[in-house]
Amino acid sequence: MASPIYTHDTIYIPPREEDSAPLEVVLGCSWGRCTFCDFARDPFRILPGEKILENIEGLACMFPEKERVFFLGENAFVLGADTILELFAQIREKMPKVTTFAMYARADDVLDKTAEELKALSAAGLDALHIGVESGSDPILSERRKGLTAQQMLEAFRMLEIAGIGYHLTVVLGLGGRDYSRLHAIETARLLNKTHPESIWCLKLTLFEGTPLYGEWTRGTFHLMDPVEVLAELKLLLQNLTVTDCIFEDTTVLDSLTLQGRLPEQKDLLLRAVDRLLAANTVQ
Ligand code: SF4
Repeated sequence: MASPIYTHDTIYIPPREEDSAPLEVVLGCSWGRCTFCDFARDPFRILPGEKILENIEGLACMFPEKERVFFLGENAFVLGADTILELFAQIREKMPKVTTFAMYARADDVLDKTAEELKALSAAGLDALHIGVESGSDPILSERRKGLTAQQMLEAFRMLEIAGIGYHLTVVLGLGGRDYSRLHAIETARLLNKTHPESIWCLKLTLFEGTPLYGEWTRGTFHLMDPVEVLAELKLLLQNLTVTDCIFEDTTVLDSLTLQGRLPEQKDLLLRAVDRLLAANTVQ
């Protein structure tokens, strides 16, 4: 009997991929060292070719009408270009309606590929990568052991733009803690303003027990922000953003709300909504 096509009961796919068929290809993250992250709890593993093929067959039965496939795994784009191209071909064989593909990536997965490889992937249907920027501040990136600088990320985004591959960026609000909130907001806006993402997705930092950052918090060396402080950080980020033609979204506002709008057209509307929430939740 075929084994289940997903290892875990819950699978995580980013906003705007809800209509994609999720294919498990990789488990965990090849980096796995960011001090705040618990997504990398699965030891990094590329599934064996036969298992991926079995998953594709299962996916074809479950979603015969789907036109887009999303590769699961925290950075499935770590796979070599030839492997990804072969997987695209295998998927098309079993799911002939599929025309586009997307997956999570780290910026260095992009930097590790040549311009020609990226062009070939784009031509084969790679439509978008979902990449965690987390912060635009190098000291914060270094402190949280992201393993990348803002400049390296910008380089990767430029390579994607040249190849015609879209990208969606994720930011972790509160990642600098209370002490570096201002730096985090300003530097992240500065980085984002040099990019052309299809969307920016903000998430409030969650402290996961067992992570190094959780330990810093319990020792009192990391000052966790409360939801209202994070909202104020979101406001500062938004105020400084000049990106265009992009959806901006925060799905963790005050732990329960979602704010979404198009930039730059709805920037004022978003800021007014943030101001109203701040006014309603700030103790005078
Ligand atoms: S790159 Fe992403 S998935 Fe990997 S450890 Fe860092 S935050 Fe977690």
